[in-house]
Amino acid sequence: GTSIVWFRDDLRVHDNPALSAAIERGGAVVALYVLDEESAGIRPLGGAARWWLHHSLESLARGLGDLGVQLVLRRGEAQRVVHELVAQTGAEAVLWNRRYSLPERTVDTDLKSRLRAEGTDVASFAASLLHEPWTVTTGTGSHYSVFTPFWRACLSRPTPRLPLPAPLEAAAETASVPSDDLADWRLLPRAPDWSRGLAEAWEPGEPAARRQLLEFVRGGLADYDRARDEPGLEGTSRLSPRLRWGELSPFTVWHEAVAADGGGRFLTELGWREFAWHTLDRFPDLATKNLRAEFDSFPWPQPDEYALGAWRSGQTGVPLVDAGMRELWTTGHMHNRVRMVVASFLVKNLLIDWRVGEEWFWDTLVDADAASNPFNWQWVAGSGADAAPYFRVFNPMLQAEKFDPHRTYIDRWAPDSTGEPIVDLQATRRAALRAYDEIKRAR
Ligand code: FAD
Repeated sequence: GTSIVWFRDDLRVHDNPALSAAIERGGAVVALYVLDEESAGIRPLGGAARWWLHHSLESLARGLGDLGVQLVLRRGEAQRVVHELVAQTGAEAVLWNRRYSLPERTVDTDLKSRLRAEGTDVASFAASLLHEPWTVTTGTGSHYSVFTPFWRACLSRPTPRLPLPAPLEAAAETASVPSDDLADWRLLPRAPDWSRGLAEAWEPGEPAARRQLLEFVRGGLADYDRARDEPGLEGTSRLSPRLRWGELSPFTVWHEAVAADGGGRFLTELGWREFAWHTLDRFPDLATKNLRAEFDSFPWPQPDEYALGAWRSGQTGVPLVDAGMRELWTTGHMHNRVRMVVASFLVKNLLIDWRVGEEWFWDTLVDADAASNPFNWQWVAGSGADAAPYFRVFNPMLQAEKFDPHRTYIDRWAPDSTGEPIVDLQATRRAALRAYDEIKRAR
């Protein structure tokens, strides 16, 4: 019989439990990717994400081809598409690795029960998080809302399982099923084509991801604790899009890091990724609602369109902010320290709602995901759980002195930024604090 493996955020052949299980069943294996822009609540991908997806799917098709597995591309409402493919192939089983946002889980749960009712085997696997969200709970069985005890609880659980190798054997039989042409999905920007900087910065796909991981654990990891906060040093792994698209599994990253170096502080950063997903599981509206309800009455003024445009294009006159926003636009990535600074500047100096910034990041980051992006925006804004307190306002000039002492980063991305900010940093900071006092009093 034929098995279908439905690929989503797991564009890899190594440590892919659904793929391995399908090949072990014997028979033909058909891989499916669905571009779903129709199911209720599914957030359409941003521009940079579409670019990444296009190239990563091309790479996945090659990796699967080597295993005798065809990658079938279909567009539409996922439940309907999977059903159709089951009918067309006479598949006996559908397998996938789990995903965790509420709209996606709803699709998956409904589909699972419908397929089972029709006599199709369905199996789902844990592959994208080290700890399934419902396995890490407090003594009273609820989710943790603070990182430190959450991570302590994760570390007290059994060590994350070892990654699976890529399937050793090819699928027993091959199948040939009609597929969309990837080019027809128009995931790549055309007029204008702004993707040149992305192509210079990245090679999407699993083989490049694995090379990048090995380079990092053999090189940068040893120095990570010291270098991670200085954007000029390139001291971090830049693995975030690899994890976002599942070109690497967190199990692979975890064990490579532990084997190379014990892992140290780097493992804790993987913990923040886990915590973001855990928080989304607790609070599905993370991208649209304040975790702390008192922020619902925050008196955001009408966004100043001029200031917002200057922020997006890296023309604020604040060198570190401009450098970060231009790095983002050019490469689809930004250093974590700088993400915190540009986010703080938008929310606390320009007094623009964090959701406006979250949307820009969603559209421009190659690693934007449904949990980490809103989680971190809420963290900076102060509206999140275990967040930076609202009154802690980064001074972007001092941040630059401290974390980019030789102006390496600023000179790379914004050598022309004047240091004459479009707003008065002190006055806007005071205005933000006054607005915050209002919501505190209202509580
Ligand atoms: P490293 O320092 O090498 O860390 C290793 C891995 O740990 C990362 O690849 C990432 O998967 C994970 N990680 C590290 N820090 C965090 C964190 N704070 N939250 C969640 N995961 C973390 N990260 C995303 O993956 N997607 C996003 O959409 C995203 N949006 C962000 C928005 C804002 C406003 C801020 C302040 C941070 C955001 N981050 C996001 C977190 C962090 O900035 C990136 O994960 C990190 O910069 C990626 O670079 P790296 O792979 O070199 O990180």
